[in-house]
Amino acid sequence: MSSKTDLEGADSRVLKSAREVLRRGHFVRHSPDSESRVRFSIVERGGTSTVTADPAWTRPPVCDCYDHRTNARFRSGEWCRHIVAVLAKEEDLRCQLIDLLL
Ligand SMILES: [Zn+2]
Repeated sequence: MSSKTDLEGADSRVLKSAREVLRRGHFVRHSPDSESRVRFSIVERGGTSTVTADPAWTRPPVCDCYDHRTNARFRSGEWCRHIVAVLAKEEDLRCQLIDLLL
């Protein structure tokens, strides 16, 4: 039950923020790097964040924003609104959203 509470607390805030990013943000998908990871620039009014994701799903997605660095340090889940928004938007990465529920 405690994991359910966590999902409704912290993660629902991330989901609500991700919805705003999807509505208002501007997404730029860059070509894959030498390790086949794809990089996205998410341009919002407050600035630009960069998400790096692995279509092969061997490494978790990362973001360079403050929220992601903080969450990664204090929680086991490493999510921020940019990562959720990118995974929801990109068809080849969408299956990785299931990690949010685990
Ligand atoms: Zn982020």
